[in-house]
Amino acid sequence: MILILSSNVNQQGAEFHQLMAHLAGLSGIQTRIHVERGVEKTLTEIYLIGNTKALEIKEMCNLPCVENVVRVSEEYRVLGRHKEDPRPSHFEYNGVRFGQDTLNVFAGLCAVDNRDHVEAMLKALRDNGQVCTRMGAYKPRTSPYAFQGHGKNCLPYVFELAGKYGIKVIAMEITHENHLHEIREAIHQTGNPTGVMLQIGTRNTQNFELLKIVGRQQEFPVLLKRGFGITLDESLNAAEYLASEGNRNVVFGLRGMKTNMGDPHRNFVDFAHVPVVKRLTRMPVCIDPSHSVGTRSVAPDGVLDVVHIAAQGVVAGANMVLVDFHPAPMKALVDGPQALLLKELPYFLEDVQLARETYLKRVALAQRYSNLQ
Ligand code: PEP
Ligand code: MN
Repeated sequence: MILILSSNVNQQGAEFHQLMAHLAGLSGIQTRIHVERGVEKTLTEIYLIGNTKALEIKEMCNLPCVENVVRVSEEYRVLGRHKEDPRPSHFEYNGVRFGQDTLNVFAGLCAVDNRDHVEAMLKALRDNGQVCTRMGAYKPRTSPYAFQGHGKNCLPYVFELAGKYGIKVIAMEITHENHLHEIREAIHQTGNPTGVMLQIGTRNTQNFELLKIVGRQQEFPVLLKRGFGITLDESLNAAEYLASEGNRNVVFGLRGMKTNMGDPHRNFVDFAHVPVVKRLTRMPVCIDPSHSVGTRSVAPDGVLDVVHIAAQGVVAGANMVLVDFHPAPMKALVDGPQALLLKELPYFLEDVQLARETYLKRVALAQRYSNLQ
């Protein structure tokens, strides 16, 4: 059960003490306080853990400071979408809104290779009105002999250039706690020119200790990629790890499943789960058409599979698109074969926009028909 307190509640105040004393007297119930600090208001929630079945919603609503009470199902307690749940399905980070009602494109380099390519990419994004990107500094690779990413050495110039070109959020994978510290240090040392969304890759979806560490910080939001060989439920529970530790600014990423059933694509595209994740949780849903498809194959209609599949996810209501671009894919050190070209950026953005308009029209259509019933 979640008690949602009135905003800006004072934890030193008499009413709050009264509430906590009452909760302490409930047998078999433990409490966990979660505080979400926004620009204008601070929201406090109290999670009641244990045998909450005996507690009456009405009675709990009458306790001091309590504004709303939500009875949660066992699944995904913090991130889940529960009955009569007034908690938001969006968050804001560095001036960019991430919600189940918005769409953000994160086009960029799979891996940072050199400063010139980073700058060319960021300039193209700025010229096309974009404020988000992807830039991998730490790359988990199948072969120990493959390029592992430039790591912390590239962070200062990536952040400075991002600031120069007005980029507000960079999706960047981390695979170790140290990477979080390195990113935090570099971003502060460069004077916070941009923001970072920490990415947990598909190989680390169930790295629970990493999830706990990333969940314990609230400075950076997190993009959690679905595990490529586990159930959706297992991946959603992985996201819940982040939230249960305190960070609920989580975007859930679909990136295809590892099975030969998806051949000739690199992974079996799983964007049919976009509406499922939105129904089960309040997380915005990201799709990654590049890592799903893995090539620049073109259909007979002249449209690249990556573009077709991005559109499929967006038409189904995806909220974020993570997509590989590169100024010179032949020279890319990671995933060149699946990268789109900079000259394809305006085309890609326009195609995504078409798909988004179709999605919004489909939602309006569904509402019109449901109103008739
Ligand atoms: C990536 O986005 O660069 C990546 C490695 O993705 P995934 O974890 O989905 O394989
Ligand atoms: Mn990649």
